[in-house]
Amino acid sequence: MSGIKIVHSTMDPSRAQHREIVPAGESWIHLVKKGQIFRIVDLEGNQAVDTLFYNAHDLTDRYSFQETIREQKNIYLTAGTKIMSSNGNVLMTIVADTCGRHDTLGGACATESNMVRYAIEKRHMHACRQSFVKAVIAYDHGFEKRDIANNINFFMNVPVTPEGGLTFEDGISEAGKYVELRADRDTLVLISNCPQLNNPCNAYNPTPIQVLIWDAQ
Ligand SMILES: [Zn+2]
Repeated sequence: MSGIKIVHSTMDPSRAQHREIVPAGESWIHLVKKGQIFRIVDLEGNQAVDTLFYNAHDLTDRYSFQETIREQKNIYLTAGTKIMSSNGNVLMTIVADTCGRHDTLGGACATESNMVRYAIEKRHMHACRQSFVKAVIAYDHGFEKRDIANNINFFMNVPVTPEGGLTFEDGISEAGKYVELRADRDTLVLISNCPQLNNPCNAYNPTPIQVLIWDAQ
């Protein structure tokens, strides 16, 4: 695929301070401190990792796809992308990326969108939005449903056609590919490891991911 930029990391996984597997369909919430390096590994390939970022010192200052797209003048996210907040702060920067393209237009799956896109019987299937809500309620820091705004879909391939159309395509990620971010300020990261079974964003087969955190160098 043209325009894909691959940047490898020099971080050693055996030296990470935090290593954890997030099973398919589960959520994960964690504080990543300023200077720490945070990696998400697509363990089996073609998984969609729906992710939200919040300024840890002001949870109303949260990831903004508008600010992020405007800042880099590109709709695809990859190495060099600054993860911007709604107040215009840089929360994190993507410093390595062996997949090369991530989406921030497709949004997170919800029971409502499952019904509209696929079939009314899909109503009872678990969706990312529920994982996000479940995680913020369990986190219990005054977070609630309205704090779930637009997200990034790491490893998800949503190409935009020359006419401006949006298409959900088979992923370009493969087993072991990763994206790595440096925290530019203390950032709360919230992940829903997507349980979606109805579209090719995770190959109709949700799989686990690994998250790693290294302390500031
Ligand atoms: Zn999803």
